[in-house]
Amino acid sequence: MPQLAQRIGRAKPSAIMVIAEKAKKLKAEGRDIVNFSIGVPNFLPGAHVYEAAHKALDSDSGQYGSNRGADAVLDAFLGHIQALGFTGYTRANICTGVGAKHILYNLAEALLDEGDEITFPTPYWTSYVDIAEIVGAKINLLPCPPEQNYKLTPAQLDEALARKPRVFLFNNPSNPTGMVYTREEIVALAEVIAKYPDTWVITDDIYNTMVFGDVGYHNFIHIRPELKDRVIFVDSLSKTYGMPGWRVGFIAAPEVVARAVTTMNSNHITNLPEVASAAAVAALSGPQDVPRQKAREFAAKCDRVHAALVAIPGVHCPRPQGAFYAFPDISVAFGKSHGSTRIDNDVEFCAALLEAKGVACVPGSAFGEPRALRISYSCPDDQLDKGMARIAEFFAELH
Ligand code: PMP
Repeated sequence: MPQLAQRIGRAKPSAIMVIAEKAKKLKAEGRDIVNFSIGVPNFLPGAHVYEAAHKALDSDSGQYGSNRGADAVLDAFLGHIQALGFTGYTRANICTGVGAKHILYNLAEALLDEGDEITFPTPYWTSYVDIAEIVGAKINLLPCPPEQNYKLTPAQLDEALARKPRVFLFNNPSNPTGMVYTREEIVALAEVIAKYPDTWVITDDIYNTMVFGDVGYHNFIHIRPELKDRVIFVDSLSKTYGMPGWRVGFIAAPEVVARAVTTMNSNHITNLPEVASAAAVAALSGPQDVPRQKAREFAAKCDRVHAALVAIPGVHCPRPQGAFYAFPDISVAFGKSHGSTRIDNDVEFCAALLEAKGVACVPGSAFGEPRALRISYSCPDDQLDKGMARIAEFFAELH
């Protein structure tokens, strides 16, 4: 048989999907499953989005579209980011992709040669490692344990950037921890970035509307507009507008980067489909009450989950301030047993929890932190309370 390319040996199926599939299977067998595993926003966009999509279908041009994105969608995104405080951009700075994941993949292809270094904090969103490995980049992980609230310090960043990596990848609010950097923290990190002109900075800020309390959303560009010439802002409709399956992502970037990603598009996707583009324009430029309402709801869910977690003896959970994830340190369970099942690590913990209590969570090792697990808490409150009660019960039964 002919061989597959070596890069496929470096690509792994998503650990999150493995748990999600197992939960689905148990559910199909009739088990009562609470699914905290997949990072889906669990709501749908407003009616205006569907109306725009229907209209686009009716007037379908049937043609290929622009590799960068239709002018209407570029303009809608420009309007959207202006409201987020990103000014001075034109269509030449923008490019679309089939979701932020595709955009990040394109950026990796466009910015990293084989052997180039990319650096990012741990815990990280799983795909960062997979994408970097597929393109053959060297990864320098920056450990940010629960003791430092899962946040990168300026000293850590300084040390990492002194190595002159090609790319620094930053995610705020964070998946999987739900952490949000304060303005002061962003100021301090921006100061470090300013010292190292040889590094591109990718800011994956796709949860930027889901920020709780008064911490606010801040990007390095807000603090130092001159960083626009090497900071790349990544955004997506998936979480903000409840549209993960529509697959629309964007960047606002230096022109040369937006052009490079457009070239990548021209070689694999050609263009965002017309119907998805029309839906994107409606979501971005229509009423913003759904995302605002959801951010409020997630803030309340966050409080419920956090209160339930910290009430469990020995569980430590830095308080999330955004997105819809909590990332408790559950290592107090290691070395104990549930029934006759011994638990020595996060993977065994999640497997035993799913088997015994029907609650699906993702092991922290999928995000580079094997002492933790990820709870995606976007489900309805009754499910949330049921799942959290079962987790507490599980801990109480450990011996
Ligand atoms: N970045 C982060 C941090 C994410 O959590 C996700 C989705 N889980 C993505 C990017 C990809 O989002 P999209 O649906 O736009 O591809």
